[in-house]
Amino acid sequence: MPAAAQRVENLPPYLFARIEQLIAEKRAAGVDIISLGIGDPDQPTPEHIREEARKQIEVPENHRYPTSRGMLAFRQAVARYYARRFGLELDPEQEVVTLIGSKEGIAFISWCYLNPGDLALVPDPGYPVYAGGAILAGGVPYYFPLRPEKGFLPSLEDIPTEVARQAKVLFINYPNNPTAAVASSDFFAEVVAFARDFDLLVCHDAAYVEVAFDGYRPPSFLATPGAKEVGIEFGSLSKPYNMTGWRLGWAAGCREAVELLGRFKSNIDSGAFQVVQHAGVKALEGPQECVEQMVALYRERRDLAVAAFREMGWRVEPPKATFYLWLPVPDGFSSAAFATHLVEEAGVVVTPGTGYGRNGEGFFRVSLTLPTARLKEALQRIRRVLGKVSFAHV
Ligand SMILES: *Cc1c(COP(=O)(O)O)cnc(C)c1O
Repeated sequence: MPAAAQRVENLPPYLFARIEQLIAEKRAAGVDIISLGIGDPDQPTPEHIREEARKQIEVPENHRYPTSRGMLAFRQAVARYYARRFGLELDPEQEVVTLIGSKEGIAFISWCYLNPGDLALVPDPGYPVYAGGAILAGGVPYYFPLRPEKGFLPSLEDIPTEVARQAKVLFINYPNNPTAAVASSDFFAEVVAFARDFDLLVCHDAAYVEVAFDGYRPPSFLATPGAKEVGIEFGSLSKPYNMTGWRLGWAAGCREAVELLGRFKSNIDSGAFQVVQHAGVKALEGPQECVEQMVALYRERRDLAVAAFREMGWRVEPPKATFYLWLPVPDGFSSAAFATHLVEEAGVVVTPGTGYGRNGEGFFRVSLTLPTARLKEALQRIRRVLGKVSFAHV
């Protein structure tokens, strides 16, 4: 066999391999493992969206190759969503491209901009695809820290000028996975100014913009004055409509970036299945009560998880958005050791913070995407194992 290409070898090691092996061993031994590790909605796609897909699958035209940039009808639905939700006008023909899930665009945007050795500014902790896409493109991630004392927002002024000058893309993500942090329009305005100063393309991952609680409505980066000239925003049907398996998202914003992504995609994939795009139009334009119901369900789970962790000794505020809790590990544990301890002793899986970068050390992520009864059971087991915890270091 020939040797693997360097770009694949350069990918960071897969940090969950050891814990996944442990889970597999436990399951094989008959242990009932509850996973709080997976960020994938447990509820089905709403009925009216499934109904649209059933209808569209009978239309022979939809069985053919789609266009790689996506159906105009879907891109128009995205433009109308932006107008309705954020008051932002978008040209569906030139400022929106359909994606096979936002993940593909997040990975491919680096291929569109990075030459070998070029820098991508990447949050740490962060969704692993930002660095992965940059590395596969031959680029080099420069990790900037997200720290609790700054509300997990980056301190852009701490990025060395020389680094910012050399970088071509900047990834940000609010509401944030894994920290559940949110960003204000003021912060986004700072990002626009920073991007102008250093001639960067801002890539904002807005996957959780519709998963927010207690009346909070997260802003769009793209709707920030000047953002459309320096950035694109990745949107996804996955989280608001429980459509992770359907693979549908978009990139919107800066014309040049949208055009490049479309051109790039036409050489790699042939676009999203039209049945799925029709279903996406239905999701965006149909009744939105399903989103409210989903949010209400996550809020109920969030509140019971926050209450349980508080009883154990955590000082935790209920997150304003996303379906995650990002918590410090108790004294005496590394992130990995704590996650291993919970699998061994409680049969519960949490994600060690280091899976999202070095600055994730000292934290773990809990996902609320499992049936409420199972979540309760998991929390009881954790309490049985941990009792009261202490946090000298916090
Ligand atoms: C779930 C998620 C996405 C969405 O990915 P899709 O490819 O659209 O399913 C993007 N970014 C983050 C941070 C996520 O957690």
